[in-house]
Amino acid sequence: MHNTPMTMRSSPDENPSPQPTPLADALHRPMHDLRISLLDQCNFRCPYCMPEAEFHSEYEFLKRQQRLTYDEIVRVARAASRLGVSKIRLTGGEPLLDKNVCDLIERIAVLPGVEDLALTTNGALLAPIAEKLALAGLQRVTISLDSLDKEIFRIMSGGRGDLDAVLAGIKAADAAGLGPIKINVVVQKSVNDDGVLDLLEHFRGTGIIVRLIEFMDVGNRNGWRLNQVVPSRELLARIQKRWPMRAIGKNYPGEVARRYEYVDGAGEMGFISSVTAPFCGDCSRARLSADGKLYTCLFANQGTDLRESLRNGADDDELQQILTSIWLQRADRYSELRRPEIAEHHVLQKVEMYRIGG
Ligand code: SF4
Repeated sequence: MHNTPMTMRSSPDENPSPQPTPLADALHRPMHDLRISLLDQCNFRCPYCMPEAEFHSEYEFLKRQQRLTYDEIVRVARAASRLGVSKIRLTGGEPLLDKNVCDLIERIAVLPGVEDLALTTNGALLAPIAEKLALAGLQRVTISLDSLDKEIFRIMSGGRGDLDAVLAGIKAADAAGLGPIKINVVVQKSVNDDGVLDLLEHFRGTGIIVRLIEFMDVGNRNGWRLNQVVPSRELLARIQKRWPMRAIGKNYPGEVARRYEYVDGAGEMGFISSVTAPFCGDCSRARLSADGKLYTCLFANQGTDLRESLRNGADDDELQQILTSIWLQRADRYSELRRPEIAEHHVLQKVEMYRIGG
């Protein structure tokens, strides 16, 4: 078991098949995590991911038949778990817009080899369903929350977010045991960085882990500039002035966050520093888009279409073969190679984050 002590929900499969030797890519990184986007739609319009001007009410999102069915998603998840994937994260867009998500969770939670089943959400729809998600087999949630200031929250959710609903969602998830809960904060200079200490103060001593994320040049539409990034080391210096912190180790290889704990025992927080301290060296994440493309990097410019193979009768062995050949060739390390002067011009047509989840 990797990181946090978790109680595995009742899995009928008491004799899990032995874990296969994880498949390794061209840089010797195992395929350990699979992120599955359930749909490309979202009820927020965060400017750094899905700016309103581009994703307006007329925007055409994927139609139902273009999206993978639950049967197809489970087949990919099963094939991936047979190749060493033990951590699955459900994402979107906003996955809780999928009203039957608990049915899918029940099916993935019992797959042999899946040890960690998590979901990333903006939290606005979480409160009424948290208990049901837990009962279905979900173990953890990560909630995006960029500010506790109502006005800044409104701006950073594209005018569509309800801060109180998100806070109620966090409370309900905590009560349902979907933890340890992680709070993802995308920090943008002169937008929400002044509110970082308030966010940390709010969750100190609660067991909920705040992770401060450096603003990234994901996709092609968020107008990223290096001067909008607040380096994690700068944030750490600000935090240290308020609370003494000490670095603590990773929970498992490939964990994206750099963890710190409060010396006074009030818990931990973390930094995800893709710009100033890239972590491609042990990146073990594959990403499946809602329309069935497998991407091997958050900043990839193309994915491999699995939907066609699935709908043209590929059996499980063939599916495993396809995943194996994709991963064996993988050599992505975009963040390590990022050249801000190029990234600022968005010349590389990268996949949009809303299509594959962060
Ligand atoms: S940039 Fe790509 S390879 Fe590097 S850590 Fe992110 S997803 Fe992994």
